Amino acid sequence: MFINSQKIINLLEQLAPKRYAEDWDNVGFLIGSDQLEIQKVMVTLDVTEAVVDEAIEKNVDLIVSHHPMIFKGLKSITDRSYKGRLIRKLIKADIHVYAAHTNLDITAGGLNDYLAGLLELEQVDVLDVSGSDAYYKLVTMVPTDSVPVVEEALFKAGAGRLGNYEQCDFKVTGQGSFKPLTGANPAIGNVGVREFVEEVRLEMIVLGEVLDQCTRALLKSHPYETPAYDIFKMENLEKAYGLGRVGRFTQGLSGEAFIERLKSVLGSNYMRVAGILPEKIYKVGLCTGAGSEFIHTAKRKGCDVFITGDVKYHEAQLAEELDMCVIDAGHYETEGIYVDYLRDYLTEKCTSKNYEVRIIKSEFLENPFKVY
Ligand SMILES: [Zn+2]
Repeated sequence: MFINSQKIINLLEQLAPKRYAEDWDNVGFLIGSDQLEIQKVMVTLDVTEAVVDEAIEKNVDLIVSHHPMIFKGLKSITDRSYKGRLIRKLIKADIHVYAAHTNLDITAGGLNDYLAGLLELEQVDVLDVSGSDAYYKLVTMVPTDSVPVVEEALFKAGAGRLGNYEQCDFKVTGQGSFKPLTGANPAIGNVGVREFVEEVRLEMIVLGEVLDQCTRALLKSHPYETPAYDIFKMENLEKAYGLGRVGRFTQGLSGEAFIERLKSVLGSNYMRVAGILPEKIYKVGLCTGAGSEFIHTAKRKGCDVFITGDVKYHEAQLAEELDMCVIDAGHYETEGIYVDYLRDYLTEKCTSKNYEVRIIKSEFLENPFKVY
């Protein structure tokens, strides 16, 4: 099967829709073409010269990075600048580049959720809300015998999920009627005769982003030629999205145990802690990468500690002023852990779709800081 870049991009944008990206960001397809075949994809945090040379040597067709290599306006693309040199090398070797940055931080199952999961936080919520997705109610009338098939197809497409619950629906039995007209090909009944059928009204909640795929699943699984279905927008429910997460340890965790857990999940030997490490930690705020702008938000939300990277001197002082504990766990450390997950995600998706594409991880993931 011919796999072009768009097919891989679709998989990435299922995980991290571009509309989640912050306004100042520059995510998406940065270098490349839809006309060329993709056989090998390399996942990385940054597109550095070492990564580009590795991609050329390993015959990589597409580099997927977290940090966008083209971020601000480029005035020239020549050998005279580092960036210009890399872009020339990439284009000459027909290597495509795609970046998923703040959209990957924000999305459910992205970097922030991943770290919250590794820390075993519970009741995880968004730290800084930047927008919300609408919920819909999808209702269809199904002949009784076909309910399990339609129900299953809708669950599989993502319908019936709310909070910590899935496979939620409501059913009530009633009577449907219809009269097939000339040209119809009815699954039940005959042309010209009004038919009365025992039907189930099946309703499920659906998040806006999966509404199209759920509607397609309904139409595909429903036995009728022209299924009856309704879509209602929920006015009382929406799903917030945004950067960072807040979560809890129901039983609390001692400060020392928390630091040990954080070091272990990030593979770090030390943590830089500003403010006083609480004896017992219940509520944790976090923002992977550079998130020190959210120290106030974490305080307002009642967090005992806030984890992020790139904390500056005066922000560390702010922690003390706010009587708050801020942990600088490192920009590289809090993001680098996700690259394995992204490689595994793409591998699994490509395998399930029978895409003959190999997904590898760059060997040149490197923290620009060295500790001596
Ligand atoms: Zn970053």
